[in-house]
Amino acid sequence: LLRTPRVIDAFRSVDRAHFCPGPYPYVDSPQPIGHGQTISAPHMVAIMSEAARVDEGTSVLEVGGGSGYQAAILGALAAPSTVHTVEYVPGLAEVARSNLARAGVANVVVHFGDGSLGLPEHAPFDRIVVTCAAPAVPPPLLEQLADGGCLLVPVGKGFQDLIRVSRDGGRTRSEDLGGCVFVPLRGEHGFR
Ligand code: SAH
Repeated sequence: LLRTPRVIDAFRSVDRAHFCPGPYPYVDSPQPIGHGQTISAPHMVAIMSEAARVDEGTSVLEVGGGSGYQAAILGALAAPSTVHTVEYVPGLAEVARSNLARAGVANVVVHFGDGSLGLPEHAPFDRIVVTCAAPAVPPPLLEQLADGGCLLVPVGKGFQDLIRVSRDGGRTRSEDLGGCVFVPLRGEHGFR
């Protein structure tokens, strides 16, 4: 799943043990991180990190901060840019902040709030990576996508399709990258 040298380097630079509280941080499965949420399985983080095509200096928004692990990988890819991640559960936003600090990641900012609304004060973004499943592509995220940028979002109930929406001028193009399973997106444009 990992094939791009920069993405492989990013994975090597971030130790998952800082983000995964259980005894088996390197097992390829999602694992509980508290508050009923999970850290995604490493293969899913690999798929997202490859599909996001994050270059050096790219502006990135993640929706669904969770443990902070995916954000840390995006941070390694986007440096020296700052990666913004939004987490809906206040306690988890705190957990992500302390995990990132422990891992020595300095270019990720964790925001507490409803990421289905994006982060207008830091928009537009070259890349938007949603790590929870949405009923449809949230309109505010499309609005906050820079020209030439792309948005990755799992869409559907239960099993989902990983959708990549690319913006080219006024036009957008959607690709279906295949099946996936994420926890539901909540908030304004999530599942009620
Ligand atoms: N990327 C995370 C995995 C996240 S699991 C990691 O690497 O560990 C999905 C996360 O999305 C959960 O923590 C959940 O609380 C969060 N979430 C759900 N709805 C959200 C919303 N509207 N805004 C921000 N985060 C949301």
